[in-house]
Amino acid sequence: MAFTVAIDGPAAAGKGTISRAVAEHFGFAHLDTGLLYRAVGAKVTQGVDPLEAAEALKAEDLNAEGLRTQAAAEAASRVAANPQVRAALVDFQRAFATRAGGAVLDGRDIGTVICPEAPAKLFVTASPEVRAERRYLELTEGGHEVTRAEVLEDVKARDARDSERVTAPLKPADDAVVIDTSEMSIEEAVAAAIGAVQARGAAT
Ligand code: C5P
Repeated sequence: MAFTVAIDGPAAAGKGTISRAVAEHFGFAHLDTGLLYRAVGAKVTQGVDPLEAAEALKAEDLNAEGLRTQAAAEAASRVAANPQVRAALVDFQRAFATRAGGAVLDGRDIGTVICPEAPAKLFVTASPEVRAERRYLELTEGGHEVTRAEVLEDVKARDARDSERVTAPLKPADDAVVIDTSEMSIEEAVAAAIGAVQARGAAT
């Protein structure tokens, strides 16, 4: 039976880790929808028209190299403000969401726009400072040379762009369970998420 879990929230709140853990726990497929915007952003950086890039997007494009970089995140959040690009990516996400066997989608507008009927909706968040610190550690461990101040500025700029855009702004759905991971360990956040999804009717 199809069961959709919609997980939204800002960058570096722990969405990705939580989504993968929830998908594994329930045996559902997982789609990181940020990759769609990152892949389109990367094509646009190479000179492709944004709408053409979105319409031509294929599943294998999500495995392209370099999609996890800061530059790709930046390009993603710019194309993500384009309503035509967003519209072109809806069908792919809805088809994934309704696949038999269950699906977890994580992003910014899954509970509000892509899957408003999803039985389980989570909004995973944390303070900008905590998120910036996590991203800083991730980036420096990966060999990137950045300062804490640069990362915090980037987190805040991306939050502002994602929350203030007219089309599908980042916000919790009315019936979303909000999980603030600022003071939680990964294990605590994952347990809270699994509990919330069970409470919304997913079989263990
Ligand atoms: O989640 P991730 O950091 O990979 O997303 C990159 C950017 O893509 C976000 O900053 C946001 O602008 C955009 N995005 C979006 N809607 C989604 C997923 C990502 O607008 N469902």
